[in-house]
Amino acid sequence: MSSFSYRNGITSKGVGVKLDNYSSKSSSSSKSKVQSTGSSIRRSSTGSVGGGGGSTKDDSTVSGRVRVAVRLRPRNAEEMVADADFADCVELQPEVKRLKIRKNNWDSDTYEFDELLTEFASQKRVYEVVAKPVVESVLDGYNGTIMAYGQTGTGKTYTLGRLGEEDTAGRGIMVRALEDILAEISPETDAVSVSYFQLYMETIQDLLDPANDNISIMEDPRNGDVSLPGVNLVDIRDQKSFVELLRIGEAHRFAANTKLNTESSRSHAILMVHVKRSVKGKHSSLSSESTGKTLKAPIVRKSKLVIVDLAGSERVEKSGSEGHTFEEAKSINLSLSALGKCINALAENSAHVPVRDSKLTRLLRDSFGGTARTSLIITIGPSPRHRGETASTIMFGQRAMKVENMLKIKEEFDYKSLSRKLDVQLDKLIAEHERQQKSFQDEVERIALEAQKGVAEAERNYADALEKEKLKYQKDYAESIKKLEEQWAAKQEKHGHRKVKVGQADDGIDQKSNSELSTSGEVAEIKKTLQNETLLRKAAEAEVNNLRNQLTQWKKAEAARNDEISNLHKLVENEAHQKATLEEEIAILRSQLLQISFEADQTRRNLDTGRNGELSGSLDSLIPQVKHQQPKDSGDGEKASMAKLFEQVGLHKILSLLEAEDADIRIHAVKVVANLAAEESNQEKIVEAGGLTSLLTLLRSSNDETIHRVAAGAIANLAMNEINQELIMSQGGISLLSLTAANAEDPQTLRMVAGAIANLCGNDKLQVKLRAEGGIRALLGMVRCRHPDVLAQVARGIANFAKCESRAISTQGTKAGKSLLIEDGTLPWIVQNANNEASPIRRHIELALCHLAQAEANAKDMINGGALWELVRISRDCSREDIRTLAYRTLKSSPSFQAELKRLRIDYG
Ligand code: ADP
Ligand code: MG
Repeated sequence: MSSFSYRNGITSKGVGVKLDNYSSKSSSSSKSKVQSTGSSIRRSSTGSVGGGGGSTKDDSTVSGRVRVAVRLRPRNAEEMVADADFADCVELQPEVKRLKIRKNNWDSDTYEFDELLTEFASQKRVYEVVAKPVVESVLDGYNGTIMAYGQTGTGKTYTLGRLGEEDTAGRGIMVRALEDILAEISPETDAVSVSYFQLYMETIQDLLDPANDNISIMEDPRNGDVSLPGVNLVDIRDQKSFVELLRIGEAHRFAANTKLNTESSRSHAILMVHVKRSVKGKHSSLSSESTGKTLKAPIVRKSKLVIVDLAGSERVEKSGSEGHTFEEAKSINLSLSALGKCINALAENSAHVPVRDSKLTRLLRDSFGGTARTSLIITIGPSPRHRGETASTIMFGQRAMKVENMLKIKEEFDYKSLSRKLDVQLDKLIAEHERQQKSFQDEVERIALEAQKGVAEAERNYADALEKEKLKYQKDYAESIKKLEEQWAAKQEKHGHRKVKVGQADDGIDQKSNSELSTSGEVAEIKKTLQNETLLRKAAEAEVNNLRNQLTQWKKAEAARNDEISNLHKLVENEAHQKATLEEEIAILRSQLLQISFEADQTRRNLDTGRNGELSGSLDSLIPQVKHQQPKDSGDGEKASMAKLFEQVGLHKILSLLEAEDADIRIHAVKVVANLAAEESNQEKIVEAGGLTSLLTLLRSSNDETIHRVAAGAIANLAMNEINQELIMSQGGISLLSLTAANAEDPQTLRMVAGAIANLCGNDKLQVKLRAEGGIRALLGMVRCRHPDVLAQVARGIANFAKCESRAISTQGTKAGKSLLIEDGTLPWIVQNANNEASPIRRHIELALCHLAQAEANAKDMINGGALWELVRISRDCSREDIRTLAYRTLKSSPSFQAELKRLRIDYG
């Protein structure tokens, strides 16, 4: 077990990186005592931060070390936009308790911590892992401390101080700790009281009574116990009154800081919870010899929980930075850096722990020695822009864990995600094709059906018409025959009559002439009927012909439809053929990808085994390696094989994807190249492989703003190196960047373009050409976008350019002409922004002004343009001493400025 014991601030040996099983197995006896008091709180699980293996005795010997957890804040809205193209700078691997700080896709540093809390970690989990073990040990009678350390805005207050009234799940550590404590104690015999104060510039102010703002720390000379007699100590009986008290404290903290014109990030807020418990069934025994009796006094356990919301860690580094006084910086520095020193001293088993160096460390004295259990939560943000700050915060946490060794794991490009992306595309294409095929078939079927219907109807119509015609004729025929028969019958009758009459009478002649007359009439009638019949037949025949014609026409139409159908069939076949070719292409692409990822895996395995034979085994076998630094001598070989991996597998294929047909793949590829270009060691290879040319080509050929933005970012990174700067210039980079700038709307694109040009501005050799090709004008054009990030890059470019110009004067002693910057009309903007509220912009412009002022030839324009006043202001008020001095010296040494100041009767000296 690599825990160690504190006694009087001196530690014994044995802190390891590897997490020991920090369960409270050995504290079972004290635990059972706690549980015997009645209600019991749930015990934290094995291995959590701060879970100290308690002592089995009630004396002050406890083992434990500062337990350190890291919590990553999710991206906030601003980071979602500004860092959209970039990966987070850290990656958490909670299952192996590791954290990687990414330098780029290929390279990262790995550290181990006691706990890693991802951006998804709930407040409850954070409490249970970080704070609960400490709270439990406070209930057992030990002192406990929970501290949050991290850059401003990374979630210290969120983690510790949230009240969670609007959302129970949002309750922070302070609220939950008190809940657990109140649930555990018995109100009749135990007591809880709290004080809440802040430490700002080595002054302690009571947050429950802000008028009380110069409180001193008292130390008991006998046992070194720290107390603050001047601070309000409030008895807490229920959760509601505690939350109310926190709210009041928070409001006072806010008000006090507003009054002091500072932010809460500059003060440390400290909540102290005093717990007093009587130990049931246990009494101290005093035998009185005179009475012979034994006196019994109940035993009371006193313990203290201290929760510290530290000032933003960025203050450690930035003494003398803008906006706060030197005194303030020193004081804030004092407490935080003293904290760091104490942690170092303890971690290194140093005999002397400098707790007396600051008020913060004096207050936390108990946390660093004797009987306290301490948990540190390190809060970090994901933004790659704060990589430096995040890295130094993490190093603080590492020192707190006493870890000097780090394992560097090399990483390679994530081909798998590209492959996944292609898979998704393939599936989309397949689905789309299937849909098209289906609609084709449906169309063909529809047309065929229609044609069939048409033919059937035509046939039916024809048959109907024929049938009707037939019936009509039959009917006519039957009628005519009937008529004929009637006529015939009538004739027969007449003839019969006549015979009778001939035999009976003599008027035969009359009768004969009569019958002859009627017969000829009948014949005429029959003839007429016959003619009619013939006419009707002819009409019927004509009708039949007509219908026949119609039928042939229908047949023709049907044939035409059949032709159409077969055409459509052909189209479908073509389509299917195209699909097959497409699928073949995709298959080739996929197999290439597979090949690439296989090779990458292979190479990584080779690298791993090459570096350390045992590392290739399971994770378990890997963990002990973390303790020991990798042998340095294998470094060169490692680098060589990285380079090989690059050439054989990665770069060319990635670069070839820059020209991919598919816009998504192009974007993906350019992002990968941009991420690679962010690492200096890759830049040369990218340029050698023609990456720079491809990126410039993309700027020229693409209309996509995302591509412009990412490509410009990559070019900006490549433009950090002199050789590349010349290459960019020689390939017409300036006019391409200018064009991109002119068309861009997204501030992030402009930021990248301005960054690239700003880098080029810092090259002494390229000054004239850069200007001639419109570089300065392009920079100036970008100030139309008022985004401070863009303006900062423009200002940086101008400062770089001015610096080169002034360097030329000082190194070559040339008699300098007027600055090209002034020639190109940047002076008004410079003067306007010389006191810009954003410090990066202001700093660059201040420097630019100092550089411009080096050349006497600029003096007249500068005086007329109002730059002299800015220089005077800088020389008096600039918070950065070096710039202030530079401005002062410049003013003193320029005859023109001196003359002007004298003319205006300004006493300057
Ligand atoms: P600090 O105290 O370190 O300066 P804050 O606690 O004030 O930082 O957090 C800064 C911002 O980030 C706040 O708006 C806060 O709500 C948010 N934030 C911090 N941590 C988280 C988290 N884990 N999840 C969601 N939002 C968070
Ligand atoms: Mg805060």
